Amino acid sequence: MKIAMIGTGYVGLVSGVCFSDFGHEVACVDSNPEKVAKLERGEVPIFEPGLDVLMAKNVESGRLTFTGDLSKAINGAGAVFIAVGTPTRRGDGHADLTYVMAAAEQIARAATDYVVIVTKSTVPVGTNAKVREVVAAANPELDFDVASNPEFLREGAAIDDFMKPDRVVVGVETERAGKVMEEIYRPLYLREFPIVTTDLESAEMIKYAANAFLATKITFINEIAALCEKVGANVKEVSKGMGLDGRIGKTFLHAGPGYGGSCFPKDTKALARIGQEHASPMQITETVIKVNEETKRRMVDKLLDLCGGSFNGKTIAVLGVTFKPNTDDMRDAPSLTIVPAMVGGGATVRVTDPQGRREGEALLPGVAWHDDPYTAAAEADLLVVLTEWNEFRALDLSRIAQSMRGKRMADLRNVYTLEDARAAGFTAYDSVGRVAGA
Ligand code: NAD
Repeated sequence: MKIAMIGTGYVGLVSGVCFSDFGHEVACVDSNPEKVAKLERGEVPIFEPGLDVLMAKNVESGRLTFTGDLSKAINGAGAVFIAVGTPTRRGDGHADLTYVMAAAEQIARAATDYVVIVTKSTVPVGTNAKVREVVAAANPELDFDVASNPEFLREGAAIDDFMKPDRVVVGVETERAGKVMEEIYRPLYLREFPIVTTDLESAEMIKYAANAFLATKITFINEIAALCEKVGANVKEVSKGMGLDGRIGKTFLHAGPGYGGSCFPKDTKALARIGQEHASPMQITETVIKVNEETKRRMVDKLLDLCGGSFNGKTIAVLGVTFKPNTDDMRDAPSLTIVPAMVGGGATVRVTDPQGRREGEALLPGVAWHDDPYTAAAEADLLVVLTEWNEFRALDLSRIAQSMRGKRMADLRNVYTLEDARAAGFTAYDSVGRVAGA
């Protein structure tokens, strides 16, 4: 089938590349001409493991193309996917649907034959119905259906998540649209990955409910971690003991500096807003948002304690600024709260991250960038492990401690232990949900 994909960000590009690998003919469209030019040159504008190879393979086969021209992409397409951003709207927490609705109008103007308009972006309940209205108003002659197909891929593991999903969720209103969606996902049907076919509203809701639940799980363990520190328990042992219960599960129980990224912060806020608008408050989600902010601030307090109560004049080395490993995405990363607090307090902050510099340079003014953790840590008073990249999981801690002035470590991802730090010569070590010491 011929497919048009609007938006070539983390979701649109990965989806487009994977659909073409399924055997479909995919034209990816983006309104950013620089992005399109890069993609046409064979360059991948984002960091996502394996994407460059899969993209090159499918471009080579002739099934994957890039363009800035939607009319060209949509000509003969059985489905057009909307995979544009839905950031938090300034002021009220609502998902900003400007890009989705603009894409819907552009589709209405460009389409001539029956097409299924599929929203892959994360959108509040009722958005697909609005897309239907917008398209019908802009092009009353057009024969079309709408479908909701929220995406669950994780950055850093996006290709595997797309190719081997836990489930695919499809919301449709007509049998005809259902058939088109079935054909698109046929390779996954054949391999027996579960496909949940439902109505538009339920599909839209599944995405927000799933993300809010995962954010809740992370926030729950972060709150337990704070209590563990007070009562002398070890949160790593606690999450292991909890997670072995099949009803709870092991994933999303790693205590850390608070969730971040392009999805959980904005999707929890949007769900809270949807609840308020429908007089059905999402009290748990609202609390999760609040506790997550407090968790990030609690990390700043920890670092402040390790600096003797003031950042002023201290040199601090920060390992990792992306919101998680294996991505260059900095959106809503905890580093965006923690690093400015240190810089603002008068610290000299030295940062290293395997992929974060391109985005991070603009977002973290006043820091010095280093290529590796050893040069970043030299002469520092405090070492902060902020993102658990593999590169930071097996450091020569003795070498680092020897090169430091202060020999203090804040391990905000619980990569090391107090014993590791002691053995390496650190004089103070703090982590999340475990007893600090020296
Ligand atoms: P992104 O910001 O990386 O990419 C959006 C792209 O859309 C940009 O390249 C932009 O130039 C392009 N665009 C915007 N308007 C356009 C238009 N009218 N025509 C053509 N191109 C246009 O966004 P993302 O991270 O890929 O997220 C997209 C959606 O998917 C969001 O709703 C997000 O919540 C959801 N989602 C994201 C992830 C993730 O891990 N990033 C996971 C699941 C779902």
